[in-house]
Amino acid sequence: MSVFGGGQFFGGSIEVICGPMFSGKTEELIRRIRRAQIARQKVQIFKPAIDNRYHESDVVSHSSQTVCSMPVQDPMHILTKLYDSTRIVALDEVQFFDDSIIKVVSKLARRGCRVICAGLDQDYQGRPFGPIAHLLAIADRVDKIQAICTICGAPATKTFRTDVEHKEQVLVGESNLYDARCRAHCDYFGEEDDLLSYSNIGVVNNNENIEGRLYEH
Ligand SMILES: [Zn+2]
Repeated sequence: MSVFGGGQFFGGSIEVICGPMFSGKTEELIRRIRRAQIARQKVQIFKPAIDNRYHESDVVSHSSQTVCSMPVQDPMHILTKLYDSTRIVALDEVQFFDDSIIKVVSKLARRGCRVICAGLDQDYQGRPFGPIAHLLAIADRVDKIQAICTICGAPATKTFRTDVEHKEQVLVGESNLYDARCRAHCDYFGEEDDLLSYSNIGVVNNNENIEGRLYEH
């Protein structure tokens, strides 16, 4: 029998819950899962096998709420592990899956599943993290959740790595390695890409002059 059990499901959708660390993404994912369970809809939860913090088979948020989940090495394994009766597929730490997760999510939604993805939208240098940019684009609903900047208390949309020793993109760790920060309190924007660096100031000024001329008339 097909993994999807024929065409009896309609109304598939893709939801993305994203934001920096400590913003409550997993809490929000668990909240939606609990509501679906109350409505007696079958939910299956998957997470990438790379994220082995706390417990092998639970989705655990920083506030220690747990739901059972299945760690998978390859996104394609989600399709083989899916029950025919599953209506909702929840994916935690979706940024750690490889790009084939995009195809899997699209396929699940097209077959009628409600797919809820939670994950970091940016890595510790403010770059789109893994497949998340594509998922944000194709989602029906996106919720960007903010944390609180540990420096100034403003809403925080960035994850800042306080451990400067490590440069790799994936470094799974706890609050001693990362902070939530607002844009003003992130100093990771590369100087070579910065529009305000010395070599680019002339270019910026030229653009301003062109715009100025446009508005002279
Ligand atoms: Zn701040």
